[in-house]
Amino acid sequence: MTLRNSDFDEIRVWDNENFVHPWEGMEHIGQNERTFTETADGIYVTTEAGKRLIDGPAGMWCVQIGYGNGEIADAMATQARDMAYFSPFNNANSVPARLAHEIAKRTPGDLNHVFFTTGGSTAVDTAIRFVHFRNNILGRPEKKIVISRQKAYHGSTFLAASVSGKERDKGWLDQAQGMSYFLPNVNPYIRPEGMSLQAFLDEKVADLENAILEIGADKVAAFIAEPILASGGVIVPPKGYHKRCLDICRKYDVLYISDEVVTGWGRLGHWFASEDVFDIVPDIITTAKGLTSGYVPMGACIISDALIDSVSGEKSQGATFSNGYTYSGHPVSAIAALKNIEIFEREGILEHVREVSPLFQERLTALGDFPIVGDTRGMGLVGCVECVVDSNSEDSLDLDKTVGARIDHHCQELGLILRPIINMCVFSPPLIINVSQINQMFDIMEKGIKLTTEDLAVKGLWSA
Ligand code: PLP
Repeated sequence: MTLRNSDFDEIRVWDNENFVHPWEGMEHIGQNERTFTETADGIYVTTEAGKRLIDGPAGMWCVQIGYGNGEIADAMATQARDMAYFSPFNNANSVPARLAHEIAKRTPGDLNHVFFTTGGSTAVDTAIRFVHFRNNILGRPEKKIVISRQKAYHGSTFLAASVSGKERDKGWLDQAQGMSYFLPNVNPYIRPEGMSLQAFLDEKVADLENAILEIGADKVAAFIAEPILASGGVIVPPKGYHKRCLDICRKYDVLYISDEVVTGWGRLGHWFASEDVFDIVPDIITTAKGLTSGYVPMGACIISDALIDSVSGEKSQGATFSNGYTYSGHPVSAIAALKNIEIFEREGILEHVREVSPLFQERLTALGDFPIVGDTRGMGLVGCVECVVDSNSEDSLDLDKTVGARIDHHCQELGLILRPIINMCVFSPPLIINVSQINQMFDIMEKGIKLTTEDLAVKGLWSA
């Protein structure tokens, strides 16, 4: 349906009065001036005003193969006509069965059992529920605590939120009591002046071991970690962190859940990053987003054969894993994921990401030359610029809260959307982005940061 510009006056009212957006700021609910993005192609989205913008965050870290892919759209349409839905509770269907097999072929180690979910939060829920379920069967119902980390984001359902460690998100919502434990921030950027990276790494690994010892290994069920903490500000722990944490987990019989909702499906140039980038084979991987390139919702909790074997057959004591969704393995989502994988392979998307990432990271690092930029960090095709308007402040939440939004605003004027988070901007463009588009993206960011610096200087919030 083609809408006229004037139609949006009315639609904006409906959006404000009837659509409650995620992370809705209640102070301004009903008065928002959100940009409508209405069409999209490749790495670009087009707004209601006809402005074409590079989609810096690829939607929400998910549109890997880019927008407007007719092959996926056609496959979904055909599937919807042939078999729009089947009940995964009572029947099977060839499409999700094929997809589970294709996923298992790409996961590390013996992670071959795929439980389909509706997104990342439900994948994390499923992982935690399975871990608890298993310990109930194994006769150790006390072993239930999940260790997570400050700045982690694992989702928005009650369980997934209960292991999420972003301080801002906890203020007004409840979390499950006594079920989780949070380790301190693993961001090397915040380490005390003069502390070596090695000493910081040792400290972070010790944090995990000390936590297990303090709580008691008989009470700790699992450690959950994003390989790179994405929404927490693209935090890349020191090299070797995950491997050493896995060793600690093995020492104390604690399961390792690797949350690859963002890092999976090519973001770091591999199907999954756990083994290929971070050299670990976890017990469970959770994933979503890029699995279907965001064309339709789907997630997965991928469980090792060893874990399944430990509670199956006679060992199961007749138990049922009573966890599942109406849309587990939805055939339209599953066909989109299968097509997505086919396109990744045919177009050599993983190889492409590995080829262009060095340029992306080089241009990202260069942004650190701007005086208001305190840190730049990233890996593969994901990056973050963290600004330090008040370098005397120790609490990043105290920093001028609009810096990220200001940079994003200027960049949008210049043709690029970013994702502002307090004093940071994060970005993870569609994986099909080419060299000249990467350069264009960072050229715009340079201008956006320069204009923001000028704004802040005028307002007396910054002086070089
Ligand atoms: N895990 C991680 C690492 C995420 O970044 C997210 C979402 O951004 C989730 C889980 C939750 O996924 P969803 O929003 O699909 O429920």
